[in-house]
Amino acid sequence: MSEKILVVDDDFMVRDAIEQYLSQHDYQTFAAQSAKEALEFLQQYPIEVMITDIMLSSTNVLELTETVKKSYNTAVIIMTGYIDDYFYEEAIRKGADEFVMKPVQFEELRLRLKRLLRERRLEREHIQMLDALKKLSITDDLTRLYNSRHFYQQVETEINRHTRYDRPLSLLLLDIDHFKMYNDKYGHPEGDRILSHLGKLISEFIRDMDTAYRYGGEEFTVILPETNSKDAVKVCKRIMNEVKTQKFNLPEGTAPVTLSIGVTQYNPGESINEFVSRADRAMYMSKEKGRNRISLLLP
Ligand code: GH3
Ligand code: MG
Ligand code: MG
Repeated sequence: MSEKILVVDDDFMVRDAIEQYLSQHDYQTFAAQSAKEALEFLQQYPIEVMITDIMLSSTNVLELTETVKKSYNTAVIIMTGYIDDYFYEEAIRKGADEFVMKPVQFEELRLRLKRLLRERRLEREHIQMLDALKKLSITDDLTRLYNSRHFYQQVETEINRHTRYDRPLSLLLLDIDHFKMYNDKYGHPEGDRILSHLGKLISEFIRDMDTAYRYGGEEFTVILPETNSKDAVKVCKRIMNEVKTQKFNLPEGTAPVTLSIGVTQYNPGESINEFVSRADRAMYMSKEKGRNRISLLLP
């Protein structure tokens, strides 16, 4: 799709000529004769670049530039005949991206515009790539849940928030029972399938503000902000019930997938390690009591 360019000039001849020229070069153009009109277009359309004359009757173009750069993701090219260092400095400070001299050479304007658009495209791609990389670095490949590195960062963030606002914070640790058996019996890929299925299930059965992680091989954690241990146990029950009803496409006669879960609530002032290892101990209590159950261990 062609990029949207807004031409602002109170001289109809200039405005019209630039608009025509640019639309012939496959840009989608809009024309405004005042700052007010320009802002109306900006509110309505995602304008990539605004090309404005430095002189607009009854408008301070520097002010317009500042407003546009503050409120919109739009680049600004200023057409100027005014060769004055002071003006450039001021205009750059307000965020102007590019200048062209008047009378405007169309070919020059087009080349500057093209370069500006290319820079913006590259910058956007760069940001998208960084976002994707960041996401990748905190995601577990198999289950698409967050990984354990992110778990420790998030626990810390949540503990800080808890401390600041004095809100409850709970933690679950879930471990698949006798998981080795599924691998031994049906092979590693089938084990992987169970893990990924379970990851999906856990993320479906927690609330939006809760976050789920693959903590280790067949272990998962869930951080539950704003949640006391009693409500955290309810979340566990929901997950347990769902695990029970789903058959995980296992062959007839296979032992069903079950979980041992440990639940705990944060105790003000304790370290991350104390908090997490208590959840771990709670999970082991479930194992010792015979697996397929929930254990709550309070500080
Ligand atoms: P328990 O009830 O005591 O937890 O028994 P368990 O067999 O689940 O526990 P154990 O710690 O003895 O074994 C964990 C198994 O999880 C062994 C390992 O092969 C398997 N596992 C760990 N990561 C993966 C993985 O990414 N894919 C698959 N398929 N298996 C995994
Ligand atoms: Mg384990
Ligand atoms: Mg296990």
